[in-house]
Amino acid sequence: MKIFTKSAELSAHISTLKSDAKKIGFVPTMGALHAGHVSLVERSKMECDFTIVSIFVNPTQFNNPADFEKYPIRTEDDLTLLTDLHVDFVFLPNKEEIYTENFKIPNFSIGELNNIMEGKFRPGHFEGVMQVVYRFFEIIQPTKAYFGLKDFQQVAVIQKMTQVLNLEVEIIPCVTVREQDGLALSSRNLRLSEGQRFEALFIYQSLILAENLSQKLTPKEVKNQIEQLYLESTLKLEYVEIIDSKTFEILNEKWSEESIVCIVAYVGEIRLIDNLAIHF
Ligand code: AMP
Repeated sequence: MKIFTKSAELSAHISTLKSDAKKIGFVPTMGALHAGHVSLVERSKMECDFTIVSIFVNPTQFNNPADFEKYPIRTEDDLTLLTDLHVDFVFLPNKEEIYTENFKIPNFSIGELNNIMEGKFRPGHFEGVMQVVYRFFEIIQPTKAYFGLKDFQQVAVIQKMTQVLNLEVEIIPCVTVREQDGLALSSRNLRLSEGQRFEALFIYQSLILAENLSQKLTPKEVKNQIEQLYLESTLKLEYVEIIDSKTFEILNEKWSEESIVCIVAYVGEIRLIDNLAIHF
C-alpha cells in the first residue's frame, strides 16, 4: 500500500495508471474507519483495478466548530486496516494540499437540496462537501467514487454536482452497514458512552416504527407520531422528514413508491444521522 500526502505526486501516479485504461475506484473518508467504510472499499476493489482511499477531516464542511475539534482521529489504526484490506493507495493530505491558493470550484446551484434537511440544518455543510469532493475528483480523476447511503442527501448532492458539471466519474451509492442491533455504524459512535450507545439505538427503532406505521398512516401522521415519541425520549430530535427518494419532495398525504424516512437526532452533544427506505 502506497501512502501519498502530496496532491501533485498522487495525480502524476494516477495518470500513468489511467493511460493504461485502468479503472480507478475512490473512497473518500474522514477516517476513524469502521465496517461501513470497509464495505465501500470492498465494493471498489471488486469493481476497479486500483482502489484509493482518502482520509481527510475536511474543516469546511463542519458548521459546528466543536464537532470538528472532537472528530475522532485514528490514523494509525486506519492505516493498519487499509493495509489488511490490500488497498492500493491512501491519500493523507493536509489542508494546504487540498485548499491551494488558486483552487476554485465552479459556480452552480444544487437547488432545493440545499434548503431541506442537512442543507437547512447545517448551513454551509454541502458547500464544504462539494468543495472537497470536487477537489479530490480533480486530483484523482477516479473512474468510480463510492459513497454511503447513510448520508443519503450527500449522495444526491454529489450526483447533482457531477451531473451539472459534467464530471467524468460514476457515483456508486452503497447500502448502510449496521451493528447487529440496527445502529448505523458511524465514526461519531466512538464518542458515545456505554449509556449513550444504548440510547442511540432509539434512532433505528424509530425508523422501524415509522416503517410499520406506514401501513396505516399518512407520511404526515407518521412524522407527527415520531416527533411525539422523541419528546418523550432522552434524545433531541433535530428533524424527521419523509420524502420521495428520487425527487426529494416532502410527502404529506401520500406515500410514494420509493419513500424514505430521514432522521437526525442528538444523543447528548453527538449528532447522529440515519434513514430508512420504505418501498410500496
Ligand atoms: P465519513 O468518514 O463519515 O465522511 O464517511 C465516508 C463515507 O463512508 C461516506 O460516503 C459515508 O456515507 C460512508 N459511510 C459512513 N457510515 C457508513 C455506514 N454505516 N454504512 C455505509 N457507508 C457509510
